[in-house]
Amino acid sequence: MRLSPLIPTVLRNLAKKPATNLFPKMEPVPVPENFRGRLIYDVDKCVGCRMCVTVCPAGVFVYLPEVRKVTLWTGRCVFCSQCVDVCPTNALKMSDEFLLASYDKYDEKFIWFKEEEIEELKKKLEEQKKAKEAAKKAENK
Ligand code: SF4
Ligand code: SF4
Repeated sequence: MRLSPLIPTVLRNLAKKPATNLFPKMEPVPVPENFRGRLIYDVDKCVGCRMCVTVCPAGVFVYLPEVRKVTLWTGRCVFCSQCVDVCPTNALKMSDEFLLASYDKYDEKFIWFKEEEIEELKKKLEEQKKAKEAAKKAENK
């Protein structure tokens, strides 16, 4: 009977340590530089230019004309980074975060700029507008 040529390799490997990463007991394998993880949006830096809305292939962004910002639901994101590359103010960036499993597709971590924040900004803009108008009136008197 002819023995398998794999036997020496198998015997050698039996004596070696396992090469697996025992996640979640161990830390996951580190991500490389420029890894494309969960998208992060900095509302304050956004100037409402809508470039991200135009380039996103997955329909993640919705433009809000009343506050000149965007809302985003990253549940749809395909991590292509096109929005990050096109944003003129660096309001978008890709993080190292990749453990994104959730029971809820509308989990808070997938949504940026929520209803209550939009309302708050609307109020703030309204107040700023009124203050400007009042200042103009006072100037004209
Ligand atoms: S990374 Fe790609 S898919 Fe995700 S929001 Fe940006 S453009 Fe859209
Ligand atoms: S591209 Fe950047 S600045 Fe323009 S709307 Fe999108 S997030 Fe805002």
